[in-house]
Amino acid sequence: MYVEFWGTRGSLPASLTAQRVREKIFRAIQASRSQPLTTDEEIDAFIDWNLPFAVRGTYGVNTACVEIGPQQEVVLCDAGTGLRDFGHAYVHSERGVGPGVFHLFLSHLHWDHLQGFPFFAPAYRPENRIHIYGCHADIEAAFVNQQSAPSFPVPFHALGAAITFHVLAPGQVYEIAGFAVRAILQNHPGDSYGYSFSRGGKKVVYSTDMEHGQDVQEPAYPFVDFFRAAELLIFDAQYSLAEAIGPKEAWGHSSNLLGVELAVRAGAKRLCLFHSEPTWNDEALDRFLTESREYLRIHEPASPLLIDLAYDGLRIDL
Ligand SMILES: [Zn+2]
Ligand SMILES: [Zn+2]
Repeated sequence: MYVEFWGTRGSLPASLTAQRVREKIFRAIQASRSQPLTTDEEIDAFIDWNLPFAVRGTYGVNTACVEIGPQQEVVLCDAGTGLRDFGHAYVHSERGVGPGVFHLFLSHLHWDHLQGFPFFAPAYRPENRIHIYGCHADIEAAFVNQQSAPSFPVPFHALGAAITFHVLAPGQVYEIAGFAVRAILQNHPGDSYGYSFSRGGKKVVYSTDMEHGQDVQEPAYPFVDFFRAAELLIFDAQYSLAEAIGPKEAWGHSSNLLGVELAVRAGAKRLCLFHSEPTWNDEALDRFLTESREYLRIHEPASPLLIDLAYDGLRIDL
């Protein structure tokens, strides 16, 4: 099983400007001054081991889209701008030859989770079938509206693929694309839903756009059970703790530290912080990840939990 992140930002895509790229190049050359980098292998090793991620890479630009695989039929969570990159890669890969079946799970209908769909290349091909799942009753209307004049030139019903909407009931278990799938209601403006995907004793939880509130400390807090023993917990960590309980309280998102606490309580094996704040640059996100790992080391020194911060292109094999 693997999870591949095609879009990881929250709220809005984030740009990487020419100036920021230049700063990365400057820092890399600065760090290489005393290194005898004569072969390509030495350069590769230097990049991988001597440069922080904020210098050698970037956390990315796209809004939410996550693929869970492998299986013949594609499983995706959310249709942010990352869906465009997924669709482009798909149609240019071996998988893109011939008809395809796609299962797309929507956490909710905010724009950053829908806006990639009009640019999803497989939706324009009549040989494809696309199933769209969500727990909001008006899910189809949201897709139709975003592809209506004057916002977009191609009407939703002009798309070539056969598209079917399925409204799911939270708490019920569905067998979809080889996974046992369950949804849970989340605290977010207009509601959102988290999903767990289980197969062969392994569980992946996708829980974004969720503000955990005062009741988080209750022993029977339902998300502890929902996250229980997950191989991977994808968790909305748009804010620092200070923001989440301060000026951005009730904005519908959670902090990295709460993610660490809940992952430990639930016995999750791996935590991936997700829905990153689009105004934070790569250095700030590097620090955010370091602080999350430090918090775990100080408060739960015996915990084997692994912590990542999602970036566009991250693939986690489980
Ligand atoms: Zn969002
Ligand atoms: Zn939202």
